[in-house]
Amino acid sequence: MDPFNDEHIKMYFYENRLKTFEGWPFEEGCSCTPENMAEAGFIHTPAENSPDTAMCFFCLKELEGWEPEDEPVKEHKSHSPSCHFISLKKKVEELTVEEFFKLQKERHKFLTNKSCNEAITKFDVAAKLTRADIIKTAMSKE
Ligand SMILES: [Zn+2]
Repeated sequence: MDPFNDEHIKMYFYENRLKTFEGWPFEEGCSCTPENMAEAGFIHTPAENSPDTAMCFFCLKELEGWEPEDEPVKEHKSHSPSCHFISLKKKVEELTVEEFFKLQKERHKFLTNKSCNEAITKFDVAAKLTRADIIKTAMSKE
């Protein structure tokens, strides 16, 4: 699910996050069950070669390589200590409108950060290719 899409706001709700955990490799007897993952703010974002990738819908931190005994809340806090969602003292349903908008503002900062970083990475890749091209052209001329 694309975090930049407005639909993504649905992920504030546990039930919607839980629904994403189809085919999640850790079930009963594990600490990182779909229920515990969703409770900790994660959504399942599998890729072709990483079926156990999960991302916090709020801070967009992606984690993979889960072990059955990993505790989602603990992992989330240690890998993304600045996430406002994981430190929330109330349930989303109990927030005031003002509190919710403040939270949304923080979420947008994470979104902006991610899109900037993606743009920078894209630019770096393009710059490397262009540089290689220039060198190649320069070298081919006597
Ligand atoms: Zn988070």
